[in-house]
Amino acid sequence: MSVSDYNALLDNVFAKLPEKKSKGERFEPPVPEIFLQGNKTVVRNFDAMCQKLRRKPEELAKFLFRELAVPGTIAAKTLVLQTKVPARVLNEKFSFYVDQCVMCRECGKPDTHIRYGAPVNTLICEACGATRPIRV
Ligand SMILES: [Zn+2]
Repeated sequence: MSVSDYNALLDNVFAKLPEKKSKGERFEPPVPEIFLQGNKTVVRNFDAMCQKLRRKPEELAKFLFRELAVPGTIAAKTLVLQTKVPARVLNEKFSFYVDQCVMCRECGKPDTHIRYGAPVNTLICEACGATRPIRV
């Protein structure tokens, strides 16, 4: 077998390999970039996080203000909390929110939205149609 035959054979083999299937991409929750500014805590990438979670900044901010019992404001694309909040605590709250209010329990996808209502709010999955009540 000549070298060119060999190369042709290789080409042939590679051409026949099945294309790599893209594995169902695992959702990577956004990680907050937190820094302290004087006595305040700033989440620098708050807007980007909200976009990734498909939540309005006000939705997520309201949750955090209540869970942390800390007042704050949305300023430009950041979230400003009026006290020092340990990054660990903030991370926990974000994880909790993603787990409770973003991820679908049925199909594990984050393609959801919240329908606000009384007496409960409902998490609705746009990927599989599952719904479940949430307490947030
Ligand atoms: Zn689902």
